[in-house]
Amino acid sequence: MLNKGLAEEELFSFLSKKREEDLCHSHILSSMCTVPHPIAVKAHLMFMETNLGDPGLFPGTASLERLLIERLGDLFHHREAGGYATSGGTESNIQALRIAKAQKKVDKPNVVIPETSHFSFKKACDILGIQMKTVPADRSMRTDISEVSDAIDKNTIALVGIAGSTEYGMVDDIGALATIAEEEDLYLHVDAAFGGLVIPFLPNPPAFDFALPGVSSIAVDPHKMGMSTLPAGALLVREPQMLGLLNIDTPYLTVKQEYTLAGTRPGASVAGALAVLDYMGRDGMEAVVAGCMKNTSRLIRGMETLGFPRAVTPDVNVATFITNHPAPKNWVVSQTRRGHMRIICMPHVTADMIEQFLIDIGE
Ligand code: PLP
Repeated sequence: MLNKGLAEEELFSFLSKKREEDLCHSHILSSMCTVPHPIAVKAHLMFMETNLGDPGLFPGTASLERLLIERLGDLFHHREAGGYATSGGTESNIQALRIAKAQKKVDKPNVVIPETSHFSFKKACDILGIQMKTVPADRSMRTDISEVSDAIDKNTIALVGIAGSTEYGMVDDIGALATIAEEEDLYLHVDAAFGGLVIPFLPNPPAFDFALPGVSSIAVDPHKMGMSTLPAGALLVREPQMLGLLNIDTPYLTVKQEYTLAGTRPGASVAGALAVLDYMGRDGMEAVVAGCMKNTSRLIRGMETLGFPRAVTPDVNVATFITNHPAPKNWVVSQTRRGHMRIICMPHVTADMIEQFLIDIGE
């Protein structure tokens, strides 16, 4: 701690220098986050000091959280869904498995989970003492449904399906998983942290949401394709009372019980998330998603012309290539666990950026 505080000018000059060390989005092709929409930033600034951890103090902000859940429930074909704003997919996935564990009490619980699932499930299972029974992916990098039933046993508390996988942008056959979940009377959590704000806006969306009776909960992140400020995730549950399974007493707050994982929670990014959805409307979101999908297709075609074949044909805006070619200078791409080059065509990735990337990698 400094003994004497810094002058504002000196402090901000230091902060600016640090900020300049950060990479610029105009060359980031590896992130599932994006530059927040200006509308999100404006709303975020209005709600800067609001804390949803003590909602009685901020009833207006708390009602925005309810509206956000209602909008997302509506989008996922179940307006009456319960839910709350999380800090992102990690928290939503942890909480979903907590609910499943509270619903079915067994000695040594396990969860049947896709090989392609996000690493947040490792954290969730570690914290909750749940064994992960991993189901391999098929050639399209979707969960091999024929392997799911064999993985289920008497200690299985939940199935997980991925709608928009982190590494390959694939949507599992959630319909088939939902049928198995119904037959086996199991909880089915759909991780749509990425795809939840892409799939509903595609011309022919695959079924992945509450329209399927077997789906119990859905994770979706407005801070990814929803162009909100960070952190903005959401967990939706089919029955609002499912959240009650997580309640603990909170004696000194304005509410007497709480089911969230975090205590203090930002209202600002919730306002940001809702503001973007309401500002864009379905038409606006369809246009953004169409643009991202067009850029993804163009990138795949361009890379294949240059001799870098696609690893799979993605369902959402994640492109992967069979190559270990390094990224051209100044560009940031990533690699999947199987060693494929991975590029995410987020809203900040423009058609011009794709063309420039293709020129640079072709040289
Ligand atoms: N689930 C999926 C499918 C993801 O792609 C990610 C992150 O990329 C997460 C969960 C974790 O989200 P967060 O980093 O916001 O906690």
